[in-house]
Amino acid sequence: MINSANPHVIVIGGGPAGTTASTLIAQQGYRVELFEREKFPRYHIGESLIPETYWVLERLNMLEKLRNSPFIKKYSVQFVNDNGKLSAPFYFTQHKDHESSQTWQVLRSEFDQLMLNNAREHGVTAHEEVRVLDVLFEGDRAVGVQYMTKDGQTREMRADVIVDASGQSSLLINKLKLKVADPDLNKGSIWTYFKGAAREQGIDEGATIIMQLEGKKGWFWYIPLHNDIVSVGVVSDFDYLFKGRADHATTFQEEMDRCPAVKQKLAQAEQVDRFYATRDFTYKARQAAGDGWVLIGDAFGFLDPLYSSGVLLALKSGQLAADAITEGLAKGDTSKAQLGIWEHDYLIGMDRMRKLVCAYYENLNFGRFMRSYPHHKGDLTDLLIGDLFKDSLDNVFTSIEAWKTEDAEQMMA
Ligand SMILES: Cc1cc2nc3c(=O)[nH]c(=O)nc-3n(C[C@H](O)[C@H](O)[C@H](O)COP(=O)(O)OP(=O)(O)OC[C@H]3O[C@@H](n4cnc5c(N)ncnc54)[C@H](O)[C@@H]3O)c2cc1C
Repeated sequence: MINSANPHVIVIGGGPAGTTASTLIAQQGYRVELFEREKFPRYHIGESLIPETYWVLERLNMLEKLRNSPFIKKYSVQFVNDNGKLSAPFYFTQHKDHESSQTWQVLRSEFDQLMLNNAREHGVTAHEEVRVLDVLFEGDRAVGVQYMTKDGQTREMRADVIVDASGQSSLLINKLKLKVADPDLNKGSIWTYFKGAAREQGIDEGATIIMQLEGKKGWFWYIPLHNDIVSVGVVSDFDYLFKGRADHATTFQEEMDRCPAVKQKLAQAEQVDRFYATRDFTYKARQAAGDGWVLIGDAFGFLDPLYSSGVLLALKSGQLAADAITEGLAKGDTSKAQLGIWEHDYLIGMDRMRKLVCAYYENLNFGRFMRSYPHHKGDLTDLLIGDLFKDSLDNVFTSIEAWKTEDAEQMMA
């Protein structure tokens, strides 16, 4: 039975966003209760980390745990275009000679369990198999939650701040009708797992490979995990992938036939899991905070997974919100203005990643672009590693626009 005095903060959801925020708030000595509806370890998609997660993981005291984990080390990302041509790998270490340039390909059931254990070690009271049914409001102010325990009992708990980290369940987005979809990125995905697929050796073993479909209709991800498992998924326009198509297995096979690079890598492999599918790509909430409440991670917004930015954004928003909350608690201010103080700059950073995603779908060819604008290699790598929150990066998008025109003219000539 859950029986504790009112906490300062209630966090809904024990994914990367929720565990980040709760750990950082508890580190400052505040009482945090976290409610997670599942029993961990539980399955989750989102396996490829990017280097800038390092700085949040460092604050969480997670780095040593990751260094001691079986997760495959990731040093680079590589692209295969629709003609099957492989780009040179973007080695993150060539860009920044720092430990942060090596990251990991994680099995999320194990990574999220480590993060939840870590939250508990920092003093968070985390409850599994407890589903939050509703966020309670008095006027415009969030004051608590109603939740259901494993044995079906419904109860309420109050707190100064409610953090919604419920992922794509988006409890508060739905309750307050805050969702804004992104019509330019209306994509879907089908994915599964293979054993015995082709693997590179050495520092290339853990490279994420993005392979374009013939006709540029979408792309496959290829993410090597430990225990000889590879995560493979196809992303394309929702209508293309799901309307008038047969079952997921048939669609996946048909798209593999349009991507010889992935087919070749899977030639000797055995499928070891079912097919998963999702839509709901790319949305955000109209606002990140209100009086007494904050949204973080996918519960605030989600961006197409092309550059594996989801966990970074979950960690980053969790950290920014935690800092705003602890500052607010210290001065007795849990207003919308205080709790959402990070939103503006965060959205600018998230939008930089979105622009790079859109550029890919609008046929940005990284190789050709860099031959014309070699001085932008550093900026592009900054974006790919998730170092999104600096204004100097904006010049690259001006150059991408100019390059698109130049490239189109050259193609016509
Ligand atoms: C196809 C696809 C591929 C992706 N690939 C990548 C990738 O390679 N790299 C990457 O970084 N990201 C990737 N992502 C994104 C990544 O999965 C998410 O961005 C990330 O998991 C967000 O973390 P979160 O903590 O916000 O939400 P989640 O990880 O979804 O955690 C939310 C938690 O809240 C719990 N919850 C929900 N509702 C309730 C409730 N009512 N009460 C209590 N608990 C509740 C859930 O059980 C869950 O554990 C991908 C996403 C998709 C769809």
